[in-house]
Formats: sequence, structure tokens, C-alpha cells
Amino acid sequence: MSSGLIDQLGCLREVYGAQDGLALLRALLREGPLAGRTALVSSFGAESVVLLDMVATVDRSTPVIFLDTGKLFGETQDYREELTELLGLTDVRVVSPRRRDLVVHDPAGSLWQSNPDLCCHIRKTEPLETALEGFAAWITGRKRFQGGLRGALPTIEGDPATGRIKINPLAPWSADDVERYRQLRNLPPHPLVAEGYRSIGCYTCTRRVAPGEDPRSGRWWGLDKTECGIHGPGI
Ligand code: SF4
Repeated sequence: MSSGLIDQLGCLREVYGAQDGLALLRALLREGPLAGRTALVSSFGAESVVLLDMVATVDRSTPVIFLDTGKLFGETQDYREELTELLGLTDVRVVSPRRRDLVVHDPAGSLWQSNPDLCCHIRKTEPLETALEGFAAWITGRKRFQGGLRGALPTIEGDPATGRIKINPLAPWSADDVERYRQLRNLPPHPLVAEGYRSIGCYTCTRRVAPGEDPRSGRWWGLDKTECGIHGPGI
């Protein structure tokens, strides 16, 4: 992957950096160097419906990449099907881990217990990298309020490791902003939200959180791990 786009990062920020949400997506999906070369990567998790709705509003044929790790809640799979139909998304790509990686590294399906970083690598990072081949940019749903490495997230981010641009339209949004948009657009919530799940990934590594608790504390609880690894250091 060429570093040309990374070289253009300053220009992209100068032209589009003051926008966020739907306005940013409208601009970047319709004009400039990223138009027609951008995918949305969605977990179809607790807050995903907002970004999916925005992308569908701009262009329903935008590729949507869904990483099916093999460890997802059945409710997430059902929700993906429901939203795909509801929003009229025409290019949802379900991406699975490589069979060889599972046979070699996780034949018993319990790698998440002994080596969660390697488990995320073979079930998420590697399949995503393959799925993103040919794309110049991808859209993520990360927000600054989620804290940790996300606390200073720009809306337009460079990934020096791949030369791609990452678009983070909801970076400056609060949890209330996200929920307000969902309600305003009358979008269905993930069914597990009502059961106390606020950040939803693999069933093996996700638990409910108490009201007022950090939503992401329900992921990889008890471990010194806060990210799955698909997001390397950005610029
Ligand atoms: S979240 Fe857990 S089960 Fe899912 S890929 Fe990562 S370590 Fe494996």
C-alpha cells in the first residue's frame, strides 16, 4: 500500500476536518480521493446502527465489512440480518477467519482463554486486512468518550502501517448524541442492550455492565486488554 494517502492526510483534514457525522460521510463518500474506495467496518454491536444508518443514507451500496469471528452472539447475527434489510444495505460482506489459522492455532476453540491477543489476531485482524485489500480507507465507529487510546481520536486518521485512511465520523460524539440520533431516526437497538450489554463483541469475552459503569469494561474483563488489535497506532 502506497503512503500517498498518508501524505494527503493534512489536506484531507484541512478540507473536511471540521465536519463530523453525516456531513463528513457525505463529503468523503461522494468526492475527493476516498470516494468509491472506502468501506465501513461494523460489528453490528451496541451503537453500530447509527453509523450504518448514516452510510445507508449517503449510499446503500457502500461495502460493509462484518467480521464473523465464530464466537459472536446469535442475537448479533440476527441483528445484522434485520439491519441489512431495514436499511437496504446491498453490499454487506461477512468475513470469516482463515480455516488454516483455526486448525493450526485454535483447534479446540479455546484460544481466547490462553492467548486472547492471538485469538483476536486470527479471528479479526488477519481477516480484516484481507477484506480491506484494494480499499483506500475505512470507516470506524470509535468515539473519544470511550477513553483509553480513543481519547484523542481525530475524525480523519492515518494508519501508517497500511497507508490507509480511517474515517471516524462519531469521534467527537457523546453517548447521549449517539442515543439521540438513534431515537430520532427510530432505529432498533441491539437486542442485548436491554439485557445490560453496552459494548458487544464475542460472547466469550463480553459481559453485562452495571448502570453507570464504563461500557467497555465489559470487554475482556480481568485482563490488561482493552482493544482487539484491529486498530494500530494512528497519526
Ligand atoms: S474477542 Fe475474544 S473470542 Fe473474540 S476474537 Fe478476541 S479473544 Fe477471540
